[in-house]
Amino acid sequence: MLDFDLDGLAAYCEGLGEKRFRATQLFRWIHQKGAADFGAMTDLAKSLRDKLAGVAEVRPLPVATEQASADGTIKWLFDVGGGNAVESVFIPEDDRGTLCISSQAGCAVGCRFCSTGHQGFSRNLTTGEILAQLWYAEHHLRQRLKLAPGERAITNVVMMGMGEPLQNYSALVPALKAMLDDHGYGLSRRRVTVSTSGVVPMMDRLREDCPVALAVSLHAPTDALRDDLVPLNKKYPLAELMAACRRYLEAAPRDFITFEYCMLDGVNDSDDQARQLLALVNGRGAGGTERVPCKFNLIPFNPFPESGLLRSPRERVMAFGKVLQDGGVVTTIRKTRGDDIDAACGQLAGEVQDRTRAAQRMKRLPIQVVAARPDGTPKTH
Ligand code: SAH
Ligand code: SF4
Repeated sequence: MLDFDLDGLAAYCEGLGEKRFRATQLFRWIHQKGAADFGAMTDLAKSLRDKLAGVAEVRPLPVATEQASADGTIKWLFDVGGGNAVESVFIPEDDRGTLCISSQAGCAVGCRFCSTGHQGFSRNLTTGEILAQLWYAEHHLRQRLKLAPGERAITNVVMMGMGEPLQNYSALVPALKAMLDDHGYGLSRRRVTVSTSGVVPMMDRLREDCPVALAVSLHAPTDALRDDLVPLNKKYPLAELMAACRRYLEAAPRDFITFEYCMLDGVNDSDDQARQLLALVNGRGAGGTERVPCKFNLIPFNPFPESGLLRSPRERVMAFGKVLQDGGVVTTIRKTRGDDIDAACGQLAGEVQDRTRAAQRMKRLPIQVVAARPDGTPKTH
């Protein structure tokens, strides 16, 4: 039952000979009230409840582990079968509760600085598996945090867990629609964010099918460097990505794109590179890009040994942010949360049966000198 948006559930119910309003009632029981037992859905006809019990189920994902950080962050590892597990993270703040959700077991993009990318790709999650993360977290947290009836635990969802959401498009869109639906989680489009490494054709489709807030993982101001850090750049280079961002904004619920930028010591964190970024987003970059209204979110790199990369020093991140800010681009530095439970960005590893041999591929990557230290000596990884 978690596999459907409301239209999908209505079609399913129609197949059982039921009217659409029954699907709406069912959808509300499942997503608004967190019911898993058809018998408890008291305003549905007994005959329908019995019918559903015979053919359908609300199937939660088994929780393999739960870890709670001193700062209130909670991380769940969900077992998705076949030796695969994915992670979700709840991040409470004063004025909101954000859930970071996974879209795939592993990821095929293979970014150099990402622990999920180093694990390779196993499989896409289904809509039901994407929504089960939100369903579980919302209803579990309402009890755990002793919320008043009608109060929501999760006010924002970010598709920033494991996987590239736009490479699992057909499962993603119904999940997003259930998040937005007033009979579902009722989240506004501005409070649901899809983060992508830049799957250009799917950005265009998302704009048509289900425009929500968009974050684009940029990480480099030039194609040469981005090719190395985010291999998908070879397919969709920066000029195309910038053009797709501009097109997306025509229908987006926010009037800016959030560019995520993971700060890697000596690789992408120089003042010159910040100036190149300004040129890129202001429409003076290579490839004749046009201006993209945007904000930058600088993410201190969360290191893991196999990456061979280091986190930029705090002062470097500040200085880099200042160049962007002085250049007229609103820039924030992401607070690191849940560090003590490995719940910070890019640390979500889950367990994945790597079908793509990513680890071997990464080992074979040529060691590249991608930047120089401030004293001019080359920095290798
Ligand atoms: N695949 C999507 C969404 C998941 S990754 C994407 O790449 O956008 C979510 C964010 O975490 C991305 O911006 C990604 O670049 C960032 N990230 C990945 N590994 C990281 C690490 N080790 N340290 C900091 N941020 C990281
Ligand atoms: Fe995949 Fe995103 Fe990690 Fe890149 S950063 S490997 S796209 S999850």
